[in-house]
Amino acid sequence: METTDSITAVKQKIKQVKHDGGSVGFVPTMGFLHEGHLSLMRRARKETDFVVASIYVNPTQFGQNEDLDAYPRDIVNDARQSKSAGVDLLFAPSNKDMYPDGYSTFVNLKGSMVEGLCGKSRKGHFQGVATIVTKLFNIIRPDFAYFGQKDAQQIAVIRRMTRDLDMDVTIISCPIVRESDGLAMSSRNAYLSPTEREEASALSKSLFYARDIIQSGERSPVSVRQTIEKIIAEAISTEIEYIEIVEQDTLKPLEVLAGRFMIALAVKIGKTRLIDNLEMEL
Ligand code: AMP
Repeated sequence: METTDSITAVKQKIKQVKHDGGSVGFVPTMGFLHEGHLSLMRRARKETDFVVASIYVNPTQFGQNEDLDAYPRDIVNDARQSKSAGVDLLFAPSNKDMYPDGYSTFVNLKGSMVEGLCGKSRKGHFQGVATIVTKLFNIIRPDFAYFGQKDAQQIAVIRRMTRDLDMDVTIISCPIVRESDGLAMSSRNAYLSPTEREEASALSKSLFYARDIIQSGERSPVSVRQTIEKIIAEAISTEIEYIEIVEQDTLKPLEVLAGRFMIALAVKIGKTRLIDNLEMEL
């Protein structure tokens, strides 16, 4: 595995791979890698000839009061793990190269895709995501890009963006990797104290319970939301940011449970904001 911070070096390498007829798989990350990230890399390894992963904590997707400075970093361990997951090229650019002086261009989505769920509290977040993903796609020109269903709104936004802007890349959604008690793996889990970590399992438990009652015939989004809220409130003294049931592709709230939909939630445990979701089809 080669590691570089150079945009030019990545472009040169990709040109050569494409010239030789190879397909390019890409896994964008913010690093501090865990099994969730590695599952994306292994899948890219299986399905494409040349695998690029990026590690970049993108400042434009963090709000003013968010955890940009505290975000955990460990590039040495990340490189070791990426290599063992089969990555060919690790791209870890600097802020100076990604947003040079005078940088002025941003990709902005409008409407329900970015206004609901995490978009409500994280103003500008998806503009930052769409912008950095567009830049990375332009540098790496992947045939396939791998994203985790963990960040379900992010995938929906990126799919919409690639369709709207005629980008020549196939977006692959990969299942959420969970800890043994059900907690969705996240780099931010590192912030949790031992007590908070225990409490955090209530999130996935509430989602799994919601799935059970839906499978047993419950069709009211209001009842499902109330059930989830009750389970979380009983387990944690926390601030629930949202519990929403939305149509899978448009992210519009559902009146009745039918078709492909997603139950998504965001909760603050102590200072740590955690998200989780579950996809269903009826
Ligand atoms: P991040 O480093 O948090 O920006 O995540 C990079 C990619 O890994 C995104 O596509 C995430 O959705 C994905 N990812 C993060 N956590 C998980 C997880 N627990 N399971 C599957 N994919 C994940």
